[in-house]
Amino acid sequence: MAPAPSEPRPPVEPYKVKVVERIRLPSREEREAALRAAGYNLFQIRSDDVYIDLLTDSGTSAMSDRQWAAMMIGDESYAGSRNFAHFEETVRTLTGFPHIIPTHQGRAAENLLFSLVGRPGTVIPNNMHFDTTRAHVERNGSKAVNLAIPEAYDLQSPHPFKGNVDVPKLEELLRGGPALVPVVMVTLTNNTGGGQPVSVANITAVHAACRAAGVPLYLDMCRWAENAFFVREREGGMRDLSIPEIGRRFFDLADGATMSAKKDGLVNIGGFVATRDTALAARLKEQLIIFEGFPTYGGLARRDLEAASVGLREACELDYLEHRIGQVRYLAACLDADGIPFVHPPGGHGIYLDVARFLPHLPASELPGQSLVVELYREGAIRTVEVGAVMFGDAEPGGPPPLELVRLAIPRRVYTSAHLGYVADVVRRVWNRRTSIRGVRMVEAPERLRHFLAKFQPMA
Ligand SMILES: *Cc1c(COP(=O)(O)O)cnc(C)c1O
Repeated sequence: MAPAPSEPRPPVEPYKVKVVERIRLPSREEREAALRAAGYNLFQIRSDDVYIDLLTDSGTSAMSDRQWAAMMIGDESYAGSRNFAHFEETVRTLTGFPHIIPTHQGRAAENLLFSLVGRPGTVIPNNMHFDTTRAHVERNGSKAVNLAIPEAYDLQSPHPFKGNVDVPKLEELLRGGPALVPVVMVTLTNNTGGGQPVSVANITAVHAACRAAGVPLYLDMCRWAENAFFVREREGGMRDLSIPEIGRRFFDLADGATMSAKKDGLVNIGGFVATRDTALAARLKEQLIIFEGFPTYGGLARRDLEAASVGLREACELDYLEHRIGQVRYLAACLDADGIPFVHPPGGHGIYLDVARFLPHLPASELPGQSLVVELYREGAIRTVEVGAVMFGDAEPGGPPPLELVRLAIPRRVYTSAHLGYVADVVRRVWNRRTSIRGVRMVEAPERLRHFLAKFQPMA
């Protein structure tokens, strides 16, 4: 039956399904048992006990037939694999960066870069650091600071580029020069802040500030194609440009980048660090050999590099991006119809529920984001992730309190609009009983990246 005109319209898939994977809704009793066994931490639940998995869009994409075909032409030579040559050429063509160093995922790229540029007494700014970025910056002794524009913290602001950097604040910090700020990072899109894009105008101003201070600018380009899609829609003069052309408006202003190909590379594993700095590239390769492997495979099977070469291109296709962002907007429209609060405008890779307005009766000390994650699983075996006090509460002592969000990340090309309709139903059922939801407390927490391994208990 066609939906009534007032109902949100699901986007039509620009692909058809060739292979299917069975999923199953566990019973209420099974869900309760799974929660208990996991210490109420959804990272500790077996995927067999999850019905719709919105934990992350990282490494969870469905590969295309072309990518699977690419896997079959893996040249598994230790050195000089032709798949690396293709990967290098693909990334060079898309980004313009001359030195491409493959890694097994994004955080490995961060490890290589920050172990060379980070040091005690320095500050590394970003619009907002992602959790692993922050961890690598701090592990190497630097201080990680977030410099997103104030609108990024206003969850209802309709600002079209809430990923933008606060340039006056950056300029103030850059007065310390390269001795204080060894590198400036900008994340496309701003994952921690709701998957919000950065504009070309903003990166141009950031570049000018970095240039004036003699500080290199690096991009965290995990979701650069989604960012480019928003730029094409929202920024003047960009309508007629292709996604790769818009990408170059960013890359041409940067000195290098880190990337997790598990996002806009449409693969299940892979990443790289890229740079224009020949001396740094040589040192990155030395580090690479110690931690990841030889520079023509970087911790990956060569067939994985081939699949990434294909995926990096597919992620630039406009019909793919229209559908992908369309799915996020479809879920947003379904939730909006019920008055459910989330970060506006919806981001590129998921919906971020606004927990402070969802569970206003729970104080920060009762970890409302984590409570909501537990309830969404309890209600419908949907797995989501807290992006708030648990993930970042220990991040910047004395700094601004982190946003309290629950992220519903949409894996690429995996779920249909009917699945998203089910998700909207489950969120609505939790919303309808929100006033009776109780908090949780953390009973065990490791020192770094504690959200992965922490244990919780429901409050009595
Ligand atoms: C996923 C992600 C990373 C880290 O990449 P992994 O492949 O998970 O190690 C870094 N930055 C951002 C913005 C990310 O989303």
